[in-house]
Amino acid sequence: NYNEIVNTLKISRDIIYEYVKEGQTVVDCTVGNGNDTVLLARQVGLTGKVYGFDIQKEALEATLKNLTCENLDNRVRLIKDGHENIDLYIDEKIDFIIYNLGYLPKGNKNIKTNKNTTLVSLKKSLDLLNDNGIILITCYIGHEGGIEEKDAVEELLKGLDQKKYNVIKYDFINQKNFPPILYGVEKSKTRRE
Ligand code: SAM
Repeated sequence: NYNEIVNTLKISRDIIYEYVKEGQTVVDCTVGNGNDTVLLARQVGLTGKVYGFDIQKEALEATLKNLTCENLDNRVRLIKDGHENIDLYIDEKIDFIIYNLGYLPKGNKNIKTNKNTTLVSLKKSLDLLNDNGIILITCYIGHEGGIEEKDAVEELLKGLDQKKYNVIKYDFINQKNFPPILYGVEKSKTRRE
């Protein structure tokens, strides 16, 4: 069984397979075509719950269709609102939160996440995160505003107290054409000095 680290998407999926468990409550903060939402819905099973946010109606409709095909819609709540309003919809602790920033591939490239709302959302997500919970953020830097958004995300994550959070960054440093960068945050229960 040969496994190659081909791209950040693969790493992010592998982390979902490894860490998202039956019965958990999880959030997809950028539903888009719903690839992650579907995966999360399978992982949490019948006893789990998935919240999904997107500002595009078409994205949520397409995702609902995919979920329904697999009988997964019963555990998913799709919300047509910005992830910066996450706290208006969720008042329970969350085990796993995923962001895939930027615009929808093959969609309207002008409708994309931005530095300000992403930061607001991320701070709220950190508050909602359970002990041992994980946040994954994929940043794209090839489009306008992408670098600023990535820098803002990195700045926030760099400042997190290492006694409370484990923070990692995956970056393919020998690739051309601005490969996406993946950040991972784990809220640690073990208090290190
Ligand atoms: N993970 C998705 C998939 O599997 O198809 C792709 C996500 S795509 C890169 C980014 C998505 O974020 C777009 O569908 C866009 O509409 C959405 N988006 C942009 N601003 C947003 C916001 N403030 N809150 C929630 N979603 C937003």
